[in-house]
Amino acid sequence: MLIESISGIRATIGDSLTPAKVVEYAAAFGQWAEKGSIVLGRDSRVSGKVISDIAARTLQWMGLDLIDIGIVPTPTVQLMTEKLGARAGLAVTASHNPFPWNGLKFIEKTGLFLDAEQVAAVLKNKKAGKALFKAAGEFGEYRFKEDAIDRHVENVLSIPYIDVKAIRARKFRVVIDAVNGGGSLALPALLEKLGCKVIKLHCSPDGYFPHTPEPLPENLTDLMKTVKEEKADLGLAVDPDADRLAVVDEKGNYLSEEYTLVMAAEVVLSQTQVKDPIIVTNLSTTLAVSRIAEKYGAACLRTAIGEINVAKKMKEVAAVIGGEGNGGVISPDSHLGRDSLVGAAMVLHFLAGDKRPLSEKYAALPQYRMAKKKIGIAGKDPDAILTALKLKFAAEDCNTVDGLKISFPESWVHMRKSNTEPILRVYSEAADSEAANALGERFLDEIKNIMEQ
Ligand code: MG
Repeated sequence: MLIESISGIRATIGDSLTPAKVVEYAAAFGQWAEKGSIVLGRDSRVSGKVISDIAARTLQWMGLDLIDIGIVPTPTVQLMTEKLGARAGLAVTASHNPFPWNGLKFIEKTGLFLDAEQVAAVLKNKKAGKALFKAAGEFGEYRFKEDAIDRHVENVLSIPYIDVKAIRARKFRVVIDAVNGGGSLALPALLEKLGCKVIKLHCSPDGYFPHTPEPLPENLTDLMKTVKEEKADLGLAVDPDADRLAVVDEKGNYLSEEYTLVMAAEVVLSQTQVKDPIIVTNLSTTLAVSRIAEKYGAACLRTAIGEINVAKKMKEVAAVIGGEGNGGVISPDSHLGRDSLVGAAMVLHFLAGDKRPLSEKYAALPQYRMAKKKIGIAGKDPDAILTALKLKFAAEDCNTVDGLKISFPESWVHMRKSNTEPILRVYSEAADSEAANALGERFLDEIKNIMEQ
């Protein structure tokens, strides 16, 4: 399977992603970039080196200069693209997808991912297949740059809301599960700088994932167990390209990924000197973020799902913090992309303020629970179903920026079509799991009723 989407391309190696395909996509991206230098980085997947080399040689042949930063988190590629003044960046990664997958993520010179229009331009180039290759003697140069992770760590430590001294004083014991991915070196490096005793679990960047790589509770049983055994203060887990961060408390309990951003919001909004601060997140992220914003008199703006939508809005309104509920924290004081290093520093600052353990500090945050469901709609028009629902619930607070979100005072339901399958996703949130589930079930029934009409 090969998926072209706003976040780049992802495919399974061999049957869908072939050397020729890598050349085609890299050339299309090179044509879009035109000239200058490209920062190239990859996660630790075993297919990564070969794909990265093919992409690099293709781009060099087009006259572009390559700065290879090796195995790094995707956010490191974003940051270095911006900091090195490159024309663009290319990350070889399939994010949280399993072992057989790999892919390409395209980054523009600001360090932001390409937006929908820019990705469409790259895909149009790919379809036309008219990339121009240079003559002998006109190839671009290639160099390997070793200090990208160090620079990224220094950048995160310089975020004004992170009190490095206070964190160092606590000497936290932290277990890290980097799933042997691209964050295997960067996360421990950051935490050591923050004075932590780091217990490395799956931090060999060899690309052999010891468990299903998405940082969900069912995949993090090793981490939860190790945190308890090691009497650690907390556990941290990232996906293979280390933009998402999940947190485990000192008792070995998985805290919903939604709360990584909630903790970061608390850290930034409790300290910011910005007048009328703004936080940006997406429509499916927990209400707890809105409650933290209200507590500090900040505005909470919500965008369509997708990192680029959140990042662009943050830039437009000069937000002080933002991100997505899947563990993706974005600090404009670092760069406009989801970054698990930023998330980790924020969580440690959150914990450093007083001596209460993480479980207690977490419990004091506004608490909501989500339910995530889906329903098959084969043969039906998803947009027509959502339009009918909107009509039926017209008296409620309806938002149609991305699918249909209906908000109630202390709960919401968000329904979106999938771009790859004939389904509607139905996410709901309420004060507890039972209520969230009931709300989700109610709307599955509403959808069934509409389909039967
Ligand atoms: Mg990722």
